[in-house]
Amino acid sequence: MRPSLIPPSFTSPETNSTDFQWMFIRQNETDEFLKLKQKFPHQYFNRILEDKRIICYVTPCDDREMQRKLAFTNSMIWPTLHWSHIILGHPDTHHKHALLETRYHHPHLHNHIEHFLCNECQQAKPTGSGHGLLPDLKVSGIFCEQVTVDLIGPWPASTLNGDVEFYSLTFIETTTNLVNLA
Ligand SMILES: [Zn+2]
Repeated sequence: MRPSLIPPSFTSPETNSTDFQWMFIRQNETDEFLKLKQKFPHQYFNRILEDKRIICYVTPCDDREMQRKLAFTNSMIWPTLHWSHIILGHPDTHHKHALLETRYHHPHLHNHIEHFLCNECQQAKPTGSGHGLLPDLKVSGIFCEQVTVDLIGPWPASTLNGDVEFYSLTFIETTTNLVNLA
């Protein structure tokens, strides 16, 4: 069986904000989307994802199937910011923007990312961009005990719809150097 990259404590619906069951419950406990779906039927629409009816969003000129995002209610923002910040190893704000704004939509998501504060980062990270060599990698020799995650990019690309930038999420299993890209 393929080992999960996500620690067990992050797999329950209450703590894993990428879980579609959790997303379905949160989207349907509010009427935030009722008026939006009536007013902007092209932009807010349903899709069945892992057997759950999930409300998605796409900007007016974008392709519904290729460029849709998962629509967030107010109550979904903080748990997702917190979950992704931990699971991605306390990334900087730039990486969080790139990752979250590609996948999720909320009118104020950008501001919430800007103002998200993590107590551990506040205590451990210096302000400014910082510089220097990467620390030595300690490899345990046990397969899948340690996986490093990083967001790389942006890379420019030309498509039929114009020039775009894209990012890639890398997962590297440190014992075998097995690489997985998303
Ligand atoms: Zn942090």
